[in-house]
Amino acid sequence: DNREFQKALPVLKKIETFGYQAYFVGGCIRDALLGLASHDVDIATSAFPEEIQAIFPKHFDVGLEHGTVMAYFNGDTYEITTFRTESEYEDYRRPKEVTFVRSLEEDLLRRDFTINAMAMGTEGQLIDYFQGQEDLKAGRLRAVGKAHDRFQEDALRMMRAVRFASQLGFELETDTAQAIKESAPLLEKIAVERIETEMAKLWQGQHWQAGLTDFIDLQLYRYCPLTENGQASFQKMLDVLSPEQVFPSDTFAWAVYFFLAKCDLQFIDDFTRAWKMSNKQNRLIKEYFLALTARQESQSAWTAQLLYRFGLNTAQTVENFIQREGQAKSEFARHFPKGKAGQVEAIWEALPIHSRKDLALNGRDIIADLAPNDKRLIGQYLNQAEAAVVNEQCPNSKDDLLAYLKANQ
Ligand code: ATP
Ligand code: MG
Repeated sequence: DNREFQKALPVLKKIETFGYQAYFVGGCIRDALLGLASHDVDIATSAFPEEIQAIFPKHFDVGLEHGTVMAYFNGDTYEITTFRTESEYEDYRRPKEVTFVRSLEEDLLRRDFTINAMAMGTEGQLIDYFQGQEDLKAGRLRAVGKAHDRFQEDALRMMRAVRFASQLGFELETDTAQAIKESAPLLEKIAVERIETEMAKLWQGQHWQAGLTDFIDLQLYRYCPLTENGQASFQKMLDVLSPEQVFPSDTFAWAVYFFLAKCDLQFIDDFTRAWKMSNKQNRLIKEYFLALTARQESQSAWTAQLLYRFGLNTAQTVENFIQREGQAKSEFARHFPKGKAGQVEAIWEALPIHSRKDLALNGRDIIADLAPNDKRLIGQYLNQAEAAVVNEQCPNSKDDLLAYLKANQ
């Protein structure tokens, strides 16, 4: 599927009519050669940013210091980046100086892996100075140039290597792997948000076992926050989960990690803070973690209370994961009482109420009828009423619930 390329082709041709070079570069070429759909095509050019701005009067500056201009063309936007070199890397992360150049080869030289360092011109010709296509065919990740120098320049590339291993199932070429092992401590210099982004991609890769194996073997975990002693826990994921398994999300993968490592909620809070994850990620991880724990401890797999507590989505996500493990008869599956297919949906459908707002009793009813002498009792009454309905000890009607509460104090 090369629609994205076809659509962007007139943009490149327009740049060429002004006497500059223009190419598709990077990840989109890799993905196209692998037969994968690319979410976006990156365009590189010999034109300098102000020259691109002149060619495309309707534009938006997204990263002028990196040479990137977002151009509007035929109702769409395209990221166009000037060929550049990055020289004299400071503190192992940011290039001290970005220099715009007129040569494609120099631009490709600064890129991280050979499979990411190919370009394609407007005639469809592939530009491949570093045998990227050969590495792609062999399923190999190889640094462009001297591997050791490349990871010293920018330590994030080590995390990119293991996440590409996970997404593509590729092996690290020997020198590249060795260089990462030597440079691993430099990961501490990298902003944790950027590490987290790569880790999230690693978890969601089709071949996460390959990426995680590299992450462990190359000792990258030693230089990430709060995983210094995490080797056994990461290894356990490889040992007990089915090789067929994939994670529905990064947060689910982290939840499984904490579950297998027998962590507690306090540690998860500390961990997500150290990794600068969002509140939403923190909440999801804890919810999956608690649901896994509850599912493990419940004799009858899912119950009305558990479904009410966790909701249909979380329960289904957890159960689907466990079912896939069960089919593979993995060690992980042995942690859990066997569930029945369709049980989650059936229990959910049968729930008398699905959330607090379905309850036929509210705080005002309690004040009017039970006249609690302490406002704090209202919440307790509501919890009790909610539980009674979910457990089918009382019908969901106002009068029945008030009678139930009076009889059960
Ligand atoms: P994805 O599918 O995740 O977007 P990608 O290869 O397109 O993968 P990007 O982060 O979008 O990755 O980067 C685009 C291109 O820029 C890469 O293919 C690579 O050529 C280059 N690149 C990105 N990050 C680095 C880096 N840290 N060092 C060197 N080159 C890089
Ligand atoms: Mg990209």
